[in-house]
Amino acid sequence: MTQSQPDATTTDAGIPVESDEHSLTVGPDGPILLHDHYLIEQMANFNRERIPERQPHAKGGGAFGRFEVTSDVSAYTKAAVFQPGTRTDMLARFSTVAGERGSPDTWRDPRGFALKFYTTEGNYDMVGNNTPVFFLRDPLKFQHFIRSQKRRADNNLRDHDMQWDFWSLSPESAHQVTWLMGDRGIPRTWRHMNGYGSHTYLWVNAAGAKFWVKYHFKTDQGIEFFTQADADQMASADGDYHTRDLFEAIKRGDHPSWTLRMQIMPFEDAKTYRFNPFDLTKVWPHSDYPLIEVGRMTLDRNPTDYHAEIEQAAFEPNNLVPGIALSPDKMLLARGFSYADAHRARMGVNYKQIPVNAPQAPVRSYSKDGAMRINKVSDPVYAPNSKGGPKADTERYGEPAGWHSDGDMVRTAYTLREQDDDWGQAGTMVREVLDDAGRERLVGNIVGHLSDAVSEPVLQRAFQYWRNVDKDLGDRIEAGVRAK
Ligand code: NDP
Repeated sequence: MTQSQPDATTTDAGIPVESDEHSLTVGPDGPILLHDHYLIEQMANFNRERIPERQPHAKGGGAFGRFEVTSDVSAYTKAAVFQPGTRTDMLARFSTVAGERGSPDTWRDPRGFALKFYTTEGNYDMVGNNTPVFFLRDPLKFQHFIRSQKRRADNNLRDHDMQWDFWSLSPESAHQVTWLMGDRGIPRTWRHMNGYGSHTYLWVNAAGAKFWVKYHFKTDQGIEFFTQADADQMASADGDYHTRDLFEAIKRGDHPSWTLRMQIMPFEDAKTYRFNPFDLTKVWPHSDYPLIEVGRMTLDRNPTDYHAEIEQAAFEPNNLVPGIALSPDKMLLARGFSYADAHRARMGVNYKQIPVNAPQAPVRSYSKDGAMRINKVSDPVYAPNSKGGPKADTERYGEPAGWHSDGDMVRTAYTLREQDDDWGQAGTMVREVLDDAGRERLVGNIVGHLSDAVSEPVLQRAFQYWRNVDKDLGDRIEAGVRAK
């Protein structure tokens, strides 16, 4: 064999195949034989290539990179990944929410901003978005919300009437819908958007002191967006525009980066803060809790197998390392269950053994067997044991990072505080963050969206919804829709 000849094709069992082009037949013109094992292997594999797509966040792309700590936040967390000078390998996946796997990248939608840090203490995941807030504050509504954004039962079409019906009956969505209908609702590329942890998390330092924190990954490329018209045009010209942009930027050595800045709230402040700091529909104003720089994430390596490394990437908010913990945010507590459950449903119980999900830290768990297990299990298979199996280091890790909680079991909203309302922060954004041109585009985007087959009772509620955010905004939206 000369150097220039390609390697011989084999079956999945490594057996050399007889032909890449011809099935086994009885004579050149006769029937195909059932014992053509290679043909059957090819057809069977092909029929099973797709795994179930993610329910939300089905369309996305991603890349590998590194996170480097550039300042000293050891006073707030003992997490190894955030100690001064630490550099950690990582993976990022960006996505839209409502569209299916083949849907256009430039539809108006929040973008997923999911990160996996392969730390020395195990994998740390942050499943964020490009928005600092969310539509809901109770996880019981999440499934219903996503259904309202996806497809109807009868005609299998997306439906603005269904979307506005849900939103206008869910006033807590106002802040996020304002954000979504504004300029940042369609980023120009994934490189030109911020990422936010959105939820409040708990940080714990080496001395055991606790702090509530919010993550802000600010794009170093600058914020850029598409107008609705630009995005519509791009959806037909190149439905995979964002996927292509990220891949090509990294390929040409133009490595995108984001600077991580944190908001840090002393533990005791949460009890008396003027609104519930765990409510996912609200930001903490920067004037109360300014941003503190932590480090930089840079993406510098493309996947070589999209399916193995991005489609099968499994991010879960319960992957938290020592020094980082959950908060009493009800949405976050529910996500701790739902993400891992989604992965088990899509990929089976051993999804953490797929190389992209496997930690760089050693695994010494007592999990055993299950479909597609790759890591070998050894005895003893139970704990406690006297046979030298792994033993929890309770002296070092035994103190759960949490908070005091007590009360009767109820089904109710969060206890209301002085400034817990659904409209205030959305109104601030409209009046104080957007300029005249941005407000004009906001009105145009909402008018366009509401003018697409939304029924009269839903329209009436939507106009009132926007008047609650800002009277002038609501008036302009109603006038715009009626003039269509
Ligand atoms: P600030 O003036 O300190 O912050 C305003 C923030 O709004 C900036 O972080 C800016 O991000 C962001 N922003 C600017 N234009 C837009 C836009 N078109 N769409 C979405 N976000 C935009 O004020 P506050 O902290 O008091 O917050 C005021 C309002 O700003 C909030 O009600 C919220 O709607 C919005 N906001 C607040 C954030 C926070 O964490 N406090 C984060 C993002 C939005 P950048 O600096 O990157 O340009």
